[in-house]
Formats: sequence, structure tokens, C-alpha cells
Amino acid sequence: MRMLNNNPFRVPGLLGKLGMMTSIRDTELLEQSLLRTLGPLLGVLDTSLYRLDDGQLLARVIHYHRSKVVEADGVARLVERIEEVVQLSEVSPEVIALTENVRLLGKPCARALDGEMLMAYPLLGGDEVCGYFVFRRDREASPNEDATIRGVLEVFSNYYALLDVSQRDRLTGLLNRQALENNFERIWTAMSRPDAYHERADGRRHSKHADKFWLAVIDIDHFKRINDSFGHMVGDEILLLATRVMQHTFRSSDLLYRYGGEEFVAIISAENEAIARNVFERVRLAIEAHVFPRIEAMTISIGYAEVDPDVLPVEVLSRADRSLYQAKQDGRNRVYDFSELVARGTFASPSYGETELF
Ligand code: GH3
Ligand code: MG
Ligand code: MG
Repeated sequence: MRMLNNNPFRVPGLLGKLGMMTSIRDTELLEQSLLRTLGPLLGVLDTSLYRLDDGQLLARVIHYHRSKVVEADGVARLVERIEEVVQLSEVSPEVIALTENVRLLGKPCARALDGEMLMAYPLLGGDEVCGYFVFRRDREASPNEDATIRGVLEVFSNYYALLDVSQRDRLTGLLNRQALENNFERIWTAMSRPDAYHERADGRRHSKHADKFWLAVIDIDHFKRINDSFGHMVGDEILLLATRVMQHTFRSSDLLYRYGGEEFVAIISAENEAIARNVFERVRLAIEAHVFPRIEAMTISIGYAEVDPDVLPVEVLSRADRSLYQAKQDGRNRVYDFSELVARGTFASPSYGETELF
């Protein structure tokens, strides 16, 4: 049984935690904060958040785990671990079955499992279920606890919706530049503390941070001509279509941002350079092959660079951008890798001094 002893159900502490929750300006930190708030409140060591994407498919899972560690001097300490899983094939069939009921009924459900209760609460976004809060305990939630969980989840959902709006671009719905800057911090931090994220107790690699990352700057070729010939409205429509084509071509774990007008930034994880190139090349080909209204054809150019934890985000962005500029110079509709351009002698070896941005 996984219980913390003496965990009284205290509302003043809860109000403080809600206050903390709503001061967070970042959706993923907010999700973690929700688990940090509800776990101790329910007296459980493990809680999870399952998030669905727009199509109501499971998009990612965040596990929160607390454990007691007895140090060398005999003092017990609570250690917490937060883990984000994108390997959705690992989700247990019991959780899938239970959350499916929650989705169908739109209300919390519980089931017995190994002598305990597995409980799932819906997260609502508008009228739709957009995720689940899941935990396991030796007994069902009391009416009091049930009301508190629902209340906390409602505050969370409302606040999440607000944050989500401020991190998204209006035209395309993509994450915006602000969201990119938030993610820089997270990715760089995760990479410089690999142990905290890479391994689970069973030693297998689970986290999305297990691979290397690549950052690409993507720019539509000759987009000004489209605006000049057909006007801004048509330009907007084509921009939106191009976004959808890219979104469908990238993998669901890849991050795509609208950085500026017709410029995008993608951050992908891949085991090696060949796989990364493949992903970007596929995106270039998908745009080239797509039939857009009015225009005969449209292409994009891409420059990318490997994300190195020892190199500042602004420098990685600059490397990708310089590679993009070179792709434009060499005729557009091509994908350039920074390290390849360095190896070819087009660029001098990376220096840390020069950072020119767009
Ligand atoms: P290049 O191949 O060198 O990238 O040429 P380009 O014409 O795409 O590049 P440039 O940066 O000179 O022009 C970008 C154009 O994109 C200018 C601007 O009018 C257009 N643009 C930027 N944001 C939007 C938008 O939100 N909607 C529309 N319709 N056009 C936009
Ligand atoms: Mg352009
Ligand atoms: Mg541009």
C-alpha cells in the first residue's frame, strides 16, 4: 500500500497551492503543479495526468512520484520525480479501459485493481474531455475529497485554457515565440540533468528527453509574391494550409512554433543525424507536393542545427538560421544542416561569439 502517514486534508494549504498554481505562466509547469498539489492532498505517492490532443487521442502522460529516501545520517527525506512519457504504447490496459469510461460518461470513474482502487477524473476543456487525472489508493475518495478534487481540476482547466491561448498564435493555432522561449529553458535544463529524466526504476529509457534534439528554422520561399499577386487574405489561407501540412508531417512528439510571419521553428528529437534529416526532408517534400489553391506550387527552405546543452539556445537558433540563409542563397527548396556546412567549409567552425538573429 502506498500511503503517506498523517496527511490531514487541509484546505488552507490547498489555497496556497492554488495560488502558486495560478502564478505559473507555462502550461507544462502548471500540469506538474497540479500533480504536486493533488498527490499529497490525497495521501498518495503516485499521480498521473493523461492529456488528449485535439482529436481526443492520448498525446502525453505526466507521472508524478514521491518516495521516501533514508539518507546516510538516518534522516528520511521525501524525493519527488516527474516524468513525461510520450511512449504511449506503455499505458496500462487498465488505465485505458477506465479512462475510456470517463470519456464516455464525462464523469469520474473508479475500478478495483490488485486490492486497491484505481480512480480517474476527467479534465474538461470547454465541453470536451481533454485529459484525465489518475491515481490509485486503498479506498475511494470521500465526498469531501471528491468535491476538492473536482474543484482543483476546475481551477486548473480554466487556468490552463487561459495560458494555452497566450502561448498560441491566432491564425494557425501553433505555439508562438513566447512558448518557444519557455521550452528552450525546459529542454536545456532537462539535457544538462540527464539522469533525472532518462531512466525509470526498471532502467529502461522512457522520457522524451532520451534522444538528441534538433532545431530547425523553416521559411516559406517567395511568400511575398503570393501576397503581392493574390492579396493578404489568400496569403493567410495558404499560410494556414502550409501549417496543417507541416503539422501532419511532423510526428506528434515534435514541437512546431510560428516564430514570425512565414517563419517557423521546429524542435524534434531523433536518435541520430540521419533520422533528423529525414524528418525535415519529409516536411520539405510534403509542402512541395501539396496542391495549394490559386498558386501553382510553393516550397520551403529549412536550416537546422543539433541542440547542444553547452551551447546557448540563441546560438543554436542562429546556427539554424544561418543554414537557412545559405539554403536560400543556393536556390531555396532545400534542407541544410549546420554541421554539414561547417564540414564543407561553407561556415567556419562554430564560434561562440557571433550571434546574429534573423
Ligand atoms: P524568401 O524566399 O527569401 O523567404 O522570400 P519571401 O518573399 O518569403 O521573404 P520576405 O521575408 O521578404 O517576405 C515575407 C513575406 O511574408 C512578407 C509578408 O508580407 C508576408 N507575411 C508575413 N506574415 C504574414 C501573414 O501573417 N499573412 C500573410 N498573408 N503574409 C504574411
Ligand atoms: Mg520567406
Ligand atoms: Mg521570412
